[in-house]
Amino acid sequence: NGNGNGNGNGKAAPAGVVVPEIKFTKLFINGEFVDAASGKTFDTRDPRTGDVLAHVAEADKADVDLAVKSARDAFEHGKWPRMSGYERGRIMSKLADLVEQHTEELAALDGADAGKLLLLGKIIDIPAATQMLRYYAGAADKIHGDVLRVSGRYQGYTLKEPIGVVGVIIPWNFPTMMFFLKVSPALAAGCTVVVKPAEQTPLSALYYAHLAKMAGVPDGVINVVPGFGPTAGAALASHMDVDSVAFTGSTEVGRLIMESAARSNLKTVSLELGGKSPLIIFDDADVDMAVNLSRLAVFFNKGEVCVAGSRVYVQEGIYDEFVKKAVEAARSWKVGDPFDVTSNMGPQVDKDQFERVLKYIEHGKSEGATLLTGGKPAADKGYYIEPTIFVDVTEDMKIAQEEIFGPVMSLMKFKTVDEVIEKANCTRYGLAAGIVTKSLDVANRVSRSVRAGTVWVNCYFAFDPDAPFGGYKMSGFGRDQGLAAMDKYLQVKSVITALPDSPWY
Ligand code: NAD
Repeated sequence: NGNGNGNGNGKAAPAGVVVPEIKFTKLFINGEFVDAASGKTFDTRDPRTGDVLAHVAEADKADVDLAVKSARDAFEHGKWPRMSGYERGRIMSKLADLVEQHTEELAALDGADAGKLLLLGKIIDIPAATQMLRYYAGAADKIHGDVLRVSGRYQGYTLKEPIGVVGVIIPWNFPTMMFFLKVSPALAAGCTVVVKPAEQTPLSALYYAHLAKMAGVPDGVINVVPGFGPTAGAALASHMDVDSVAFTGSTEVGRLIMESAARSNLKTVSLELGGKSPLIIFDDADVDMAVNLSRLAVFFNKGEVCVAGSRVYVQEGIYDEFVKKAVEAARSWKVGDPFDVTSNMGPQVDKDQFERVLKYIEHGKSEGATLLTGGKPAADKGYYIEPTIFVDVTEDMKIAQEEIFGPVMSLMKFKTVDEVIEKANCTRYGLAAGIVTKSLDVANRVSRSVRAGTVWVNCYFAFDPDAPFGGYKMSGFGRDQGLAAMDKYLQVKSVITALPDSPWY
């Protein structure tokens, strides 16, 4: 089709490893797929094998400048911010339909690029993305201000206007959901965007750019510039002509983004950052249900989840039984090719993450935690790691404080509600928490005492476009999802008009 260079490595994949066709590998700027100004490309790799999946055009500052210029032109002169909200919503709904129609291909792209389970891509990631698009498509024609009470002989009202050009910088763990989490409300608001997908997983974002064009999103409204953080990402965050940056990623990089905004044009930023979320299981819980819930909370998506319930606190009365069953459950969690429908968990996204997780496991051992199961690579090839459980973990250990972003559960015992509330709050993060109990009083008390942006009671990972999502403390600020997320992409203008009999006349 002339837009990509096909599968990049030219080698046959090992027997049994299905590699999807890769159509789009160039930058998407002003409605066209183009090479990087430098002509450079970078490799994106298949975490099942470590082999090159594709060579992708590598954006740098010059390309980010072009993409921002195209987004600026589309914003200042184009149709998108000027068309009715209803019309924008119709185009977004069309995009949702197209994404749905391409579910198989898109789930396969994220499967091969990020090691995500193909089946879950089809039943969770892609449907969540289309739901997000449709939710905000419905919001696009409901943006309105207020009538103001202005003292004296005036009438006043507010207008909500799109904030302008939005830089979107996203991580690799949910390439599809992250894209639409930011892009959907920005589009609904009438903004134009430049998206910098993670360098580990650029492929589906380029496909979405193509589908957006097919749906009728005008040229320049969505631009996608794959590249590295310190080059393409930093160029976007420090750009003088970007009005706002919506970021999801690590707390360390979030800090850099905020610094860039402060040093450049004081653009607004919203930061969805890391987490070390507590999952608290009380004595009255059904132990089997709680074990299943905890296994999912930690090992889902190979632990590469910002809200992973990686600190599991179990009350002393059921602790021994829980530990025994949790170990059995971890051992039966099947690690394997994400394209195999019987796999529960695929490989870590890349070699760096694989090595990082194994290093944390070594830290856990050397700090004195007891490794009950897992702790090793799960295959000779690729970046697979066994589901891992530590006990005898104390709050001061690295594995209890830092985000591992891998399949590692730290199990801890507690006695009282007060004690566990204090422990739950003892990290720098505050993204999510889980509570398992039959007591409404305990659930209410803990929900209101834990400093976290989302609390799940007797469930985990229950997301909805209508439920605001974001962090307390060093998990960031600003909320994705929910109607309030639109505010990140809107400016408020007060218009005050003197009435004919005002003293101004
Ligand atoms: P990361 O912060 O290294 O990278 C995220 C994005 O930022 C990537 O696109 C990267 O290229 C870019 N980036 C890196 N350096 C940059 C710089 N100097 N300037 C501008 N951009 C730069 O994070 P990661 O390791 O890719 O992703 C994992 C992290 O993301 C974890 O900490 C996880 O908790 C977090 N995360 C948070 C949420 C949430 O909603 N709170 C969701 C998913 C992941």
